[in-house]
Amino acid sequence: MEVHEFQAKELLEAQGVPVGRRVVARTEEEIGPALDRLGRDLAGYVVKAQVHSGGRSRGHFPGGSAGGGVRCAATACEAEKLARAMLGRRLATAQSGEAGKPVAAVLVEEAVPVAQEFYLALLLDRRAQLPLLLASNRGGVAVEESVQEHGILREWIRASTGPCQFQLRRMALALGLAEEQREEFCSIARAMGRLFWEKDANLVEINPLALTTEGRFRALDAKVVFDDSGLFRQDAIRALRDPSQGDWREERAERLGLSYVALGGTVACLTNGAGLAMATMDLLQAAGIRPANFLDLGDSAGVESVTEAFRLILDGDGVRCLLINVFGGTMRGDLVAEGVLRALAGKKLSLPLLLRLEGPAAELGRAMLREHIPGVKIVEDLNGLEEAIRQGI
Ligand code: GDP
Ligand code: MN
Repeated sequence: MEVHEFQAKELLEAQGVPVGRRVVARTEEEIGPALDRLGRDLAGYVVKAQVHSGGRSRGHFPGGSAGGGVRCAATACEAEKLARAMLGRRLATAQSGEAGKPVAAVLVEEAVPVAQEFYLALLLDRRAQLPLLLASNRGGVAVEESVQEHGILREWIRASTGPCQFQLRRMALALGLAEEQREEFCSIARAMGRLFWEKDANLVEINPLALTTEGRFRALDAKVVFDDSGLFRQDAIRALRDPSQGDWREERAERLGLSYVALGGTVACLTNGAGLAMATMDLLQAAGIRPANFLDLGDSAGVESVTEAFRLILDGDGVRCLLINVFGGTMRGDLVAEGVLRALAGKKLSLPLLLRLEGPAAELGRAMLREHIPGVKIVEDLNGLEEAIRQGI
């Protein structure tokens, strides 16, 4: 689960990471009073659109004002204007795609003069099965390019001890930090570690971690991603969820105990079981076809779940074709067919449908679908499915 930058900064600040003075406005009416609280005579302001996406400064507002989602303002009045122009619009970034994400809130910060920008992140390295601390002295908006060219410092961290002093000192030296800055750097990294462990995070990232012209560190941007599997014991974190930022179908599926994943292609897929879902994705991929989404029914879905599931995939973005690949172990074929037909609610299916349905009462299920969806293409088994996909569905 992701949270907004302003929420990530609050969590980091609570652990002792230096973060700038700032205010948040969620509505137009809150903008003026927020700037009053921040102060209207500061030397400069930074206005930042709050969306669950990186690369905001290089993003744009389709059909809206020019400029990205991170803007500098010389006066409070200008900051107010920028905040008004961002709030409620959609911000498109390289990560979010052209559809963009709605700006749910605006963060206004006191601008600080920056001498150098660092990248510092703690993330779970699944291959090493250890947390990994990454750092670079060329942080900022172009960090990906700079890592390609100059590499990045790595320290694997033992979960039992957290980052060790010698590891942090080694990193501080490799980053070229002056003696006065090394201890502050180490304490920031340790604070990130506490947040990571205490709140079940998968990623705690500060980019840029700025060194100000006064020689102090300050987190100018922050991103924290939490492990979904840990949320059951993190009530305070769960409460930070902003449903406006995700694909609403993913949220809805989760509430129903199903899992829906949006993938951006054209074929909507209904399957049962994570393994079969992955195998289906592989079959499509191997044929050069991009899935629009997949919905995994699991193994205990009833008619109502199938109905909701089919509605969700039908409604997915960019869907031009449907694929049902269900191998019913405990799931009856007639139940799957019943759910699909209920989702259509008597309406004609206007998209092509490819069906592979096996398991108990599969023959009955296929017959029901053949009767009500005349264009349905039914394959008998996995080989038939593979062949149909290879031919472009
Ligand atoms: P991102 O594009 O979504 O990663 O947005 P960031 O929050 O990282 O902001 C983009 C860039 O704006 C940063 O890399 C900084 O260079 C700059 N920036 C953000 N806040 C400040 C600030 O308070 N002072 C100065 N001088 N620059 C800032
Ligand atoms: Mn950033």
